[in-house]
Amino acid sequence: SRKHKVVVIGSGNWGTTVAKLVAENTRGHPDLFEENVQMWVYEEKVTLPKDSPHYDASVGDEPQKLTAIINKCHENVKYLPKIALPSNIVANPSLQDTVKDASILIFNLPHEFIGNICRQIKDHILPYARGISCIKGVTVTDDNIELICEYISESLGIYCGALSGANIATEIANEEWCETTIAYNTPAGDVHHAANGVANDSDNGAAALTEYKDARGRTSKNKLTPVPGDYPSLDHHVLQSLFHRPYFTVSMVSDVVGVSLGGALKNIVALACGFVEGHGWNMTAKTAVMRRGMLEIITFGREFFPETIEEKTFWEESAGWGDMIVSCTSARNWRYSKMAVERGVSLEEIEKTELNGQKLQGISTTREVCGFLRAKGVESKYPLFMIVDRILDGTVNVEDIPELLRK
Ligand code: NAD
Ligand code: 13P
Repeated sequence: SRKHKVVVIGSGNWGTTVAKLVAENTRGHPDLFEENVQMWVYEEKVTLPKDSPHYDASVGDEPQKLTAIINKCHENVKYLPKIALPSNIVANPSLQDTVKDASILIFNLPHEFIGNICRQIKDHILPYARGISCIKGVTVTDDNIELICEYISESLGIYCGALSGANIATEIANEEWCETTIAYNTPAGDVHHAANGVANDSDNGAAALTEYKDARGRTSKNKLTPVPGDYPSLDHHVLQSLFHRPYFTVSMVSDVVGVSLGGALKNIVALACGFVEGHGWNMTAKTAVMRRGMLEIITFGREFFPETIEEKTFWEESAGWGDMIVSCTSARNWRYSKMAVERGVSLEEIEKTELNGQKLQGISTTREVCGFLRAKGVESKYPLFMIVDRILDGTVNVEDIPELLRK
C-alpha cells in the first residue's frame, strides 16, 4: 500500500511555517505519509550577513540561491529567520518536480500568484491529488468572484479545501499555541472501507468519477478521480494528523465559504484599523471598525454565496472573529498600514521599503473586492470596504471615516 506524498507550494513567512509543522507530522505518522516534504521555493539569491551563524567565509558576500541555503542550513533565512526547520523539508525551485507524484498539495503563497502557479502545474499533478489552500484572498475577474480554493479546484480538476485562522506565522513557528480552522468536504470515494486491511472493489482506484458541489451549491463541471484504495483514506482524520500539533489546534468544518471569506476580507478591515491607529485613535475606534467590518463580511457572504454560507463560522471559528481580532491588533496588514499613516507615505511604498519581499494581501484584496462591488453596483452596502479603497487611493482621509460611516 502507498502513503500520501505531501508538498507545500510556497515558502514565505506562512508557507515555511506550515511546511515546518506538516513535516513534523509526516515524521510522526509514517503509516500515513512519506517522510520528506518538498517545498516549492520561488528562487532568488540571498546574501548572508557576516554575523549570520550560516555565514561561510569561503563563499563570502557572494549571493547564494535561497533553495541551497535552506537545504544546507535548514533555515529560511529570508522569510522565516532564526527558526530551525526539520531536515525532512526539501526546498525545490522546480514547480513541476515538486508536485510530481504528490497526493496532497498545500497551497501557501500570496493570492496574486495562484493563477500562474495553477497554469504551470496543471498537466503535472496526479488526477486524484487533493489540495488545501492556506491562502487569504479571493480571485476577481470583472464582475465575478471566486474563492481561492475553488479557483484551484476548478482550474486543476481536483478537490481543494481551505485552512484559515487567527495565525501569526512567526508565533506558530516559535511553537506558541493557537487555533485554526480547516474547511473540507471529503469527496465521495476518498474514504476506503478496507476489510482486514484489504481494499474492497470500490476501493481499488477504478471507482467511478464523482461529482462535487462548488461553493455556490452547484454541481461542478469537473468530475473527480477518487483517491485510489491502496492509499490511506483522505478524510478529516488524515488532515487532522497532517496539520494538528500540540501548539496548533485544528477545528474541522465543512463551510468553505465562511472560512475563505473570513480570511480574505478581514485583511481589508485590518488596513482600516491600522489607518485609524496611525491617525492616533485607540481601541474604541478600532473596535467600531472591527464591528462594522465583520458586518460587511457577513453581508458579503449572504449576498454572493447565499446557497452555502454558514454564518456561525464567523462567530464560532478561529477563521471568523478570532482572525479579525488578531489581524487588527498584531498582523502585518495592521502594523504597516499604521506605519504608512504615521509616516505620511503610501502603503505600497511601505510594502516596498519595509517588508523585505513579504506581501500585504490587504492592498490587492481591497482593490479587487471594491472593483467587484463597483461592477455589481452595490458599493453603498459596503461603506467601510469602500473607504479603505479610497484611503489607499489618497482621495479620503482617516478623519473622514466617522462621517462617511454615518447612516
Ligand atoms: P510572504 O508575504 O511572507 O512572502 C511572499 C512570498 O511570495 C515569498 O515566498 C516570495 O518568494 C513569493 N513570491 C514573490 N514573487 C513571486 C512570484 N512571482 N511567484 C510566486 N511566488 C512569489 O508570504 P506568506 O506570509 O507565506 O503568505 C502566504 C499566504 O498566507 C498569504 O495569502 C497570507 O495572507 C497567508 N497567511 C499569512 C500569515 C502570516 O502570518 N504570514 C498567516 C496566515 C495566513
Ligand atoms: P498578515 O498577513 O496581515 O500578517 O495576517 C496574518 C494573518 O492572516 C493572521 O491570521
